[in-house]
Amino acid sequence: MSSLDKQFAQTFGAPPDIIAAAPGRVNLIGEHIDYSDGFVLPFAISDRTYAAVRVRDDRKVRIASMQRRNKIVEHHLDAIAPGLQGEWERYPLGTIWALGLTSGIDIMIDGHVPLGAGLSSSAALECSVATALNHLFSFGYSLEELARLTQRAENEYVGVPCGIMDQSVSLMAHAGSALLLDCRDLSTRNIAFDVASSGLELLIIDTQAHHSLTDGGYGQRRASCESVVSKLGIKSLRELTLLQLEASRDLLSKSEFIRARHAVTEMKRVMDAVTVLEAKDFLALGVLINQSHASLRDDYNVSCPELNTAVDASIAAGALGARMVGGGFGGSAIALIHAAHTQETIAAIEKAFAAESFKAPRFFTSLPSQGAEIIQRG
Ligand code: ADP
Ligand code: MG
Repeated sequence: MSSLDKQFAQTFGAPPDIIAAAPGRVNLIGEHIDYSDGFVLPFAISDRTYAAVRVRDDRKVRIASMQRRNKIVEHHLDAIAPGLQGEWERYPLGTIWALGLTSGIDIMIDGHVPLGAGLSSSAALECSVATALNHLFSFGYSLEELARLTQRAENEYVGVPCGIMDQSVSLMAHAGSALLLDCRDLSTRNIAFDVASSGLELLIIDTQAHHSLTDGGYGQRRASCESVVSKLGIKSLRELTLLQLEASRDLLSKSEFIRARHAVTEMKRVMDAVTVLEAKDFLALGVLINQSHASLRDDYNVSCPELNTAVDASIAAGALGARMVGGGFGGSAIALIHAAHTQETIAAIEKAFAAESFKAPRFFTSLPSQGAEIIQRG
């Protein structure tokens, strides 16, 4: 019996009917463009969140997390609606609400994705619950539908205006590949991302600088993009070329122009990254990753001193490319490095952080992994 099984039985008095798992993610390239209908190229990490669920014969919903001391939060199903006060449990409750559950359940969460590190523990949580419920109640939702529903849970129930990328990759990723996701229609293509056989590794650096996407910075960036879209009379920034943007410069404020320039150039970099990955040209991939960071730092203005230090120290230590990932204002950076240099790179980043008196960073490496799956049926 797994420890989640045991904890579930101990907490709720009977074993679970089902356990599902869903991974966190890292975005190789294509940052802050999911909400502009762009292409993104994330992959699922090996760390995942597990959701164990049991059907009840009443309309009570009880939720606990092993990362929240197994404390039970209880609600009546009919009370679960946006506006209901709560803490972490709003992620699973929002998922229940979005999927339209009609029966009571007990849920126990065991999350192994670092929380708040920009690796999307929130999507891993929502998608593990959604996958378990979809199977347990035979809802028959497709992966695209589950991605939209879990995004809705985070947007409308939790109140975080995230795009569609995190949930999509957590649900749809394949081991050994990055997922080229068209955020306009959620169509996908698996792009082989075999760093290991080229002697490379992807180092994830959690700066431990704290960001919260509810703090307004992310919402302001989205609002800038929406303002450009409405001023230029287009549907989304996806429709805009760099030439058209430059020709429209006078219609936009300076900050709107540079925000849109990030989106337009980043969309191009994603397509270029696919081309160089298909040619296994990792040096060229490194250059694109560096350009992405510069654009996020200078045009989109979502980096921070800790992220810049992580990136600069990685490059100085010989990384092929490095950039901030996720929403920004803290969280994680990635560095594409020679696997043989992992320890030196880590030491160099630690030294650079100590010199700036930043909190010590945490390090992870991960190969591209499988998306959400059912791992046990009782
Ligand atoms: P990220 O998605 O980058 O990790 P977020 O701030 O979007 O950061 O989501 C983190 C939040 O998700 C946590 O603060 C917590 O509320 C919730 N969460 C994620 N995983 C768990 C878990 N295993 N147990 C309880 N809450 C969790
Ligand atoms: Mg999140």
